[in-house]
Amino acid sequence: MNFELSKEQHMIKKMVQAFADEVIQPRAIEADKEAKFPVDTFDQMGELGLLGIPFPEEYGGSGGDTLSYVLAVEEIGRVCGSTGLSYAAAVSLGASPIYAFGTEEQKEKFLTPLAQGKALGSFGLTEPNAGSDAGGTQTTAVEEGNDYIINGEKSFITNASFAKTVIVTAVTGKNEKGKNIISAIIVPTDTEGMTITSNYDKLGVRGSDTAEIVLENVRVPKENLLGDPQKGFHQFMHTLDGVEYPLQH
Ligand SMILES: Cc1cc2nc3c(=O)[nH]c(=O)nc-3n(C[C@H](O)[C@H](O)[C@H](O)COP(=O)(O)OP(=O)(O)OC[C@H]3O[C@@H](n4cnc5c(N)ncnc54)[C@H](O)[C@@H]3O)c2cc1C
Repeated sequence: MNFELSKEQHMIKKMVQAFADEVIQPRAIEADKEAKFPVDTFDQMGELGLLGIPFPEEYGGSGGDTLSYVLAVEEIGRVCGSTGLSYAAAVSLGASPIYAFGTEEQKEKFLTPLAQGKALGSFGLTEPNAGSDAGGTQTTAVEEGNDYIINGEKSFITNASFAKTVIVTAVTGKNEKGKNIISAIIVPTDTEGMTITSNYDKLGVRGSDTAEIVLENVRVPKENLLGDPQKGFHQFMHTLDGVEYPLQH
């Protein structure tokens, strides 16, 4: 087995290492002390293509593989835990579910700006009563005409205050055994009824935005449903385990 990095992986590691040392590291202490999310650092990371490393070029990505992305997370996290967390959440949680499970239209509309680094994505699974027990999701999405009406509350959502989209998990019905069906729906953060606040006074990774989201009669088109509505639970478990790039199916 060859454990050497490829030429491309080596180049990415060197490039991210230099950026991390020159741009991220000098601001790491301030970001943490002041609990200040470094928006302009993320703008620069977007321009360098870091937010799109594992996604194909046709969706604005850099066409890299899992290891290249991991090397970038490692180099960024080495100098600033906050930036590393927000970076990994933006790519792995905010963007990759759309890449893995989205329709062609969803990829063009929602994944492309994230992969291009023009916007940040987030992933809203956790709720006040559903943390480790994600099956306890209480947020609901009820069909009305061509839309879903979403109501509920999400907690500890990384990047949400600065994100363009949040992938929200919600109960959409019951299966034949009477168990809740949990689906994932892409919600633009500027949709009416969304209230996003970041009031957590954390003990660490304070430069990473962690937000609370209240959804009150949030209306999104049914076409924003992500992947198989029956398999939302498996999809987000797969997302949390880590998606392998490029996709194998
Ligand atoms: C900085 C930060 C960023 C985050 N970002 C996101 C995000 O972007 N999106 C998102 O959806 N969530 C996010 N989370 C939420 C995170 O996923 C949850 O905190 C996590 O799932 C744990 O849930 P909880 O906090 O409700 O703890 P709980 O589930 O209440 O667990 C509390 C304690 O009880 C233990 N415990 C729980 N169940 C059992 C059991 N059955 N048996 C034995 N012990 C048990 C746990 O191990 C833990 O020690 C973030 C959290 C933090 C702190």
